[in-house]
Amino acid sequence: TERTLSIIKPDATKRNLTGKINAKFEDAGLRIVAQKRLHLTKAQAGKFYEVHAERPFYDELCEFMASGPVVAQVLEGEGAIAKNREVMGATNPADAAAGTIRAEFAESVGENSVHGSDAAETAKEEISFFFSGLEIV
Ligand code: ATP
Ligand code: MG
Repeated sequence: TERTLSIIKPDATKRNLTGKINAKFEDAGLRIVAQKRLHLTKAQAGKFYEVHAERPFYDELCEFMASGPVVAQVLEGEGAIAKNREVMGATNPADAAAGTIRAEFAESVGENSVHGSDAAETAKEEISFFFSGLEIV
């Protein structure tokens, strides 16, 4: 089975949506095999989103990701990476399919409630950014 890294972003923890978002993952057959709540510094957010360093929204994105607590988690299941992205919906909530997390909860393209790894290689890197092997059960 596959694993992917998920983050419940500050806009969602602020609105007390952690449980509702986790229910969406679990209902889709994804198992939460690691989870922790933490408040990233802007530097840590910058390191996590390094791939976007050249994008115009990078500074705003790092500022936002450090604006409040996040919940980092590892989701496990058959085709977990694609399944998680399906449950999240499109980056921009205006384009997100009905029933997806972003359609129901996201506030804007920037403050869009969740992050999910986009490929096997990035999933591996992003999981080890937050978790050691012993913390994933
Ligand atoms: P994520 O990587 O967070 O799961 P994604 O893969 O759907 O989202 P990316 O293109 O990787 O989207 O962008 C990373 C994050 O940067 C987005 O989730 C969003 O928070 C932010 N972002 C993307 N595009 C914009 C934009 N045009 N303006 C502001 N923020 C943006
Ligand atoms: Mg992405």
